[in-house]
Order: sequence, then C-alpha cells, then structure tokens
Amino acid sequence: MDNDETAVVVAGMGPVGAMLAALLGTRGVPTVVVEPQDRPYPKPRAAVLDIEAIRVLTALPGMPPLEHWATPLARNGVVDQHHRPLLMIEQTARPYGLPQIVRLDQPALEAALRRVALDTGCVRILGGRSVREVEQHGERLTAVLDDGRRLTARWLVGCDGTGSTVRAAAGIGFPGETFVQPWLVVDATVRPGAGAAPGVGGGTDGGASIAFVLDPERPMVAMSQRDRWRWEWMLGPGEDPQAVVATDAVRSLIAPWVRPADVDIERATVFTFYARQAERWRAGRVLLAGDAAHAMPPFAGLGLGMGMRDAVALAWRLSDVVAGGDPALIDGYERERRPDVEATTTLALRIGRLVQTRSRTRMRLSRGVLRAVASLPGLGSRLGGKPLPARRLPRAVAGALPDAGRVLPNPRVSVGGGPPVRLDEVIGYRWAYLGHGCDPRTVVTGIPDDAVVLALDLADPPPGCRPLRDLDGLLTGRPGSVTVARPDRFLHGTRLSCS
Ligand SMILES: Cc1cc2nc3c(=O)[nH]c(=O)nc-3n(C[C@H](O)[C@H](O)[C@H](O)COP(=O)(O)OP(=O)(O)OC[C@H]3O[C@@H](n4cnc5c(N)ncnc54)[C@H](O)[C@@H]3O)c2cc1C
Repeated sequence: MDNDETAVVVAGMGPVGAMLAALLGTRGVPTVVVEPQDRPYPKPRAAVLDIEAIRVLTALPGMPPLEHWATPLARNGVVDQHHRPLLMIEQTARPYGLPQIVRLDQPALEAALRRVALDTGCVRILGGRSVREVEQHGERLTAVLDDGRRLTARWLVGCDGTGSTVRAAAGIGFPGETFVQPWLVVDATVRPGAGAAPGVGGGTDGGASIAFVLDPERPMVAMSQRDRWRWEWMLGPGEDPQAVVATDAVRSLIAPWVRPADVDIERATVFTFYARQAERWRAGRVLLAGDAAHAMPPFAGLGLGMGMRDAVALAWRLSDVVAGGDPALIDGYERERRPDVEATTTLALRIGRLVQTRSRTRMRLSRGVLRAVASLPGLGSRLGGKPLPARRLPRAVAGALPDAGRVLPNPRVSVGGGPPVRLDEVIGYRWAYLGHGCDPRTVVTGIPDDAVVLALDLADPPPGCRPLRDLDGLLTGRPGSVTVARPDRFLHGTRLSCS
C-alpha cells in the first residue's frame, strides 16, 4: 500500500478535472489527478463552448492554438422541418479578439489540457484508478483509492461527473430532476472525397452551423461543419432506444441531411438529461466542480461551460490558499458560481420546453414569431455582429471596491515597446496589477510575488514593473489608480491609495 502527499487531489480527469489540473499546475500547485480511464474519453460529447471558457483556454501557457481543439461557430439559429431557415444569426463578433462560440472537439481539448497539466511539472496523473473513499482529519484529508493507495492532501476536488463518488463520500445529496424524455445523439465524420452537402441553415461555406429544427414530428438539433455532423433527435412516446440506434434506423434519420454513404457514424447513443445541483459544493476540505456539482440539459449549450467556469473560479482560490492565503477565500467559490449555474439551468430548461414541444399550434406560433423577427432587415448579421454582454459578478460576491466584478478587457498591447500582443497573453492565469500612469507598488501593498505588475503609459518604470501601451484604448482608469484583476479576469476592483 502506497502513501502519498500532495497539496490538491483532483478526482476525475474529464474536461473539468483536466482544466482544473492545468490551471493549478500553471500556478505551481502540487496536484495529483486520479482517473479510472487511461486516456481521454474518445467520443464527442459537449458540442459547443462559450467565450468565457475560450478566453481562459487560449491564454493558458502551452495550450495549442484554438483550431486544434475547436472550430469557430459561423451561424446558429432555428430552421423549419424542411430545413429552411426561420432565423439564422451570422456569428461575426470577436469579443476579446476571439470567437463568441466554438464548435468543440472535446477529445482534442481534453488531450491538450492533459499535456498542458503534465508539462507544468506540478501535476501527476494516476490513471486506471478511482477515488473510493475520503477521510477528513483537521487540516488534511486522505483519499483512499480503489487499489488501497492512500493520498494525503490539503484539498480534494471531485470532478468525477454526475455519478460522483466523491460527492457521495462527502455525504452531499444531489437533488433535482431526471428527465424521462430521452434523446438520440448521432456524431458522424465526413468521408474524405465526399461531395459537400449544404450545411445547417443554408451555410455553404463549410463553417460550423447549429440549428434547432422545429419539426412537430420529431424535434431535433442539427450541427454541421466541413468535416463532421452532429444530430440530436427527441425520441417519440414509447420509442425503443435500442431500435433507434440500429444502423439502418440511423441512416434513414440522417438521409434528409447527407448521403449516408458520405459519412462514417462515430457514435449513436440515447441520453437522458438531468437538472440537478449538489446540496452543497463543499464539505470541509472536499469541493465539487463540473457535473459532480451540477448537471443540466444541453439545450443552452453551456453544461461544460459551467464546469469550466467552476475550474477557473476555483483554481486561483486554491492556489492562493495553498500559498498561505486566507482559507476563507474558498467560501467565495460556491457563493459566486451557484447563482450562475442556477440561472443557466433555468435558461436550459426554458429552451428545452420550447424545443421539445410537439404541439403543432405552438410550433406554428413559434415559426410565425421567428419569421417576423427574421424579416427585420439585417437582423441576423446585426445580432451576431455584436458581442454578448460580458457577465458581471454581483457586488455581494465581488466585493465593495469600485469596478469589482467587472471583466478586464483584452486589448492589443505593447509591452516595453515590443510587438502587439493580447493583454491575456501577458497575464496568463495570474493576478494582474495595472497602474494607470503609475507603478502599482506605489499605491497597493501586499502584491503577490507571482503577480503581473504593469504600468500603463509610464516611461521607464522601476524594475519589476513592466511598461505597457494599450493599442486599442480599452484600459481606462484615473491617473494614479490601480486596476487589480483576478486570474479569472474578473476585477477585484480599482484602488486609489495605499491599502
Ligand atoms: C449528449 C450531450 C451533449 C452535451 N452537449 C454539451 C454542449 O453542447 N455544451 C456543453 O457545454 N456541455 C454539453 N454537455 C455536457 C458536458 O459533456 C458535460 O458537462 C461535461 O462532460 C462534464 O465534464 P466533467 O469533467 O464535469 O465530467 P465528466 O466529463 O463526466 O468527467 C468525469 C470524469 O471522472 C472520472 N471518474 C468517475 N468516477 C471517478 C472516481 N470515483 N474517481 C476518479 N475519477 C472518476 C470519469 O472517468 C471521467 O473521466 C453535453 C452532455 C451530453 C451527455
């Protein structure tokens, strides 16, 4: 029997555990990940990822470029049962210089995050093992693995999915709903040399497209891009899940979209969705993140996005506490994340109710409304041309400093007269102190050693403070003030004098 000691144990290396491990490793936190599988789950699951996760992922040191694990979404909307667009939005907005939404290659993302985590030199992966029990004793805990190995750590995070063993071991309930309504999900890759079929919503450029299909016979979601398709169909009453995944049944379902001979079916499976939340996300030194903490139906396309936000909100708190920070910091994690998850679950349920209706009257009504909206000239491009408003943390969780809870912009900047780069690349996943015409250290005390200290428009700042020029004019602040940004890009606030 082995006995190991580390700062943080992460149970589960799905996308959320991998993201958490990569972020902790980046901050130098000794971390052990326990994962029953030897390699990332090879089949696609989450289809899309939103800008918040994209932003953190692209700024993670060592992460391969976005096109290695995602494709920017070109358009999304709603089509009728004949695949004719009712309302399609052309997604051209580039908030923070990045696409607003991407079509995700989840296995590629997970593989990249594993590599990033391992390359930090602070993360160890124990593959082929799972966490079976957790024993808590004062300032430490012990994770007992299925092979008898015992890992001692200061914190343990359960990223072990909806059926979380960690959650059960910590005695935390998982109340909510399991939907009896099953959906068939089919993923397919386009065979090399196959003729190009028109994409979803009339896209002919091969760009990634997603649409809800208002079909009273069988509500569905369709997604296309140059080299792959995803379809999701609601099952009818009494329909046999085993019969719908049979090859012939799948081929006849996809035939209205592509020539079945032009694609290879990667996976056809029936899913049941949940809307559940753990009663608490923390029990002593055990924390929960991702699907272990909450599960929602996929209709808002934000299930994984919520888990990624958890990892991003938790990793810097854990890093700071492990480095000697106030343990009360950890309390902010659930306080901050739960309301976002609750609001998004409500949204997903609302969209689900609209999409899953079989009522012909309601569908006719929806089609009419969508056509009327779409007839407004240029609406589709106007809607997608504007970045969605950035999320802002409520004051109650963000703190009382001016600007607390706002999001740091990501302009192109020049550091010390160097070539233009995005501010995110300069900061990485660290605290940032940005002095407006001043050296932040003359205004704020107690700046952590690994923080990024920058001075905007200050010639020759003293050593340890890097001079910065904002090429897009997005970093505004009173001369002599300091903008303090957390590693997750939310502002801790603006400081005006020594504190
Ligand atoms: C059909 C479908 C479509 C979806 N579409 C979207 C979408 O478009 N957008 C979106 O954002 N989300 C979507 N989701 C949700 C998304 O896939 C999940 O939210 C995401 O995979 C959750 O990641 P996770 O890391 O929390 O959990 P998981 O991916 O479930 O990973 C959990 C990991 O923990 C491991 N594990 C299990 N037990 C233990 C143990 N005892 N000890 C250690 N490790 C353990 C497992 O092997 C696994 O690797 C979809 C989900 C489904 C099912």
